Amino acid sequence: MGDICIIGMGAVGTATAGALLRDGLASRLTLVDANHDKARGEALDFRHAGALYPRCQVEARTFDELSPADIVVLTAGVKTRPGESRLNLIDRNLAAADDIATRLERTGLPRTLLVLTNPVDAMTEYFSRRWENRGCVVFGSGTALDSQRLREALATRLGVGSASVHAWVVGEHGDSSVCLFSSARVGALPLEDFARQVGRELEASHFADLESSVRTAAYDVIRLKGATAHAIGLTAGALVKAMVRNERIVVPVSVRVPQALLASPAFGLSEGPHGPLCASLPCVLGEHGPETILRPAFHESEAKAFGASLRVLEDVNSRLPLHFPSSDSRPGTSP
Ligand code: NAD
Repeated sequence: MGDICIIGMGAVGTATAGALLRDGLASRLTLVDANHDKARGEALDFRHAGALYPRCQVEARTFDELSPADIVVLTAGVKTRPGESRLNLIDRNLAAADDIATRLERTGLPRTLLVLTNPVDAMTEYFSRRWENRGCVVFGSGTALDSQRLREALATRLGVGSASVHAWVVGEHGDSSVCLFSSARVGALPLEDFARQVGRELEASHFADLESSVRTAAYDVIRLKGATAHAIGLTAGALVKAMVRNERIVVPVSVRVPQALLASPAFGLSEGPHGPLCASLPCVLGEHGPETILRPAFHESEAKAFGASLRVLEDVNSRLPLHFPSSDSRPGTSP
């Protein structure tokens, strides 16, 4: 069990805290929010049910009271309103990220930072740049949630339990995300083989509808209830569990895309991206975070779509700073 801190105790942070507590993943859970009373209230609320989850010290702290955690889950910042894309949040959430990074640098960096704040790939790239070589593993939830949505949508279409569907969404966690249908399996069977054997229809038009439903899933929830929380809270809980219990699960998360992969002609990126960027690729996730970044099998059209998604991210990353205050001017940080 770990020493875990959640920064941002809104809908997502609170759902994540519930998932971590129910699964007994933290020995100490520290809740932080710019609105300290909100964090205090959530901590008190969770403590009242202390007998109902494995032992954990739940408390609210201000930034100044923090000590370096094993894992920080970052959910602080603004969320999309109906009609807004995640990319629209970049400037507002970069300001929040800058504030939070500066404060964490004063009290010491965590061993791992799991970024949930949107646009999650750009925010992950921001912290990857800022904390490069600082001993903190940075990654984002990326398309882990989108992949759950795809599994669920395919499971419903094919009349099977979603745990038996293995399917990845890669690229941006956003409007350019790419569903990899060509490598998806039910059990060990390709989708079309499974559909044929169980007598379910699965045509090209169904793939288009499924992809669109995955891309618009968050917008549907936001239109109906204002924010998504349960599915991302459970997904964040699963990512933390994989690290705390060294499960070594294979899951797409947002990480620095390897240069060798960027150089592949299949993605049509011969003129860049010029700098590093974070996007979702399937990884082996264990105690040290994402340990191996896998190259999925891409159908030609999927590879092109993945390249286009990286272009979208390269574009948004042009808003990120390239330089940060040097370590020397940040006292109290771990090397
Ligand atoms: P929310 O408005 O309910 O909560 C955000 C919280 O962050 C607020 O309590 C606010 O006080 C706090 N906050 C803002 N700036 C802060 C700062 N500088 N320091 C500390 N706390 C600060 O929003 P939410 O619904 O919980 O969503 C949070 C973020 O998560 C959004 O960016 C949203 O788009 C994102 N999100 C990501 C995923 C994903 O799959 N990665 C899914 C859902 C939501």
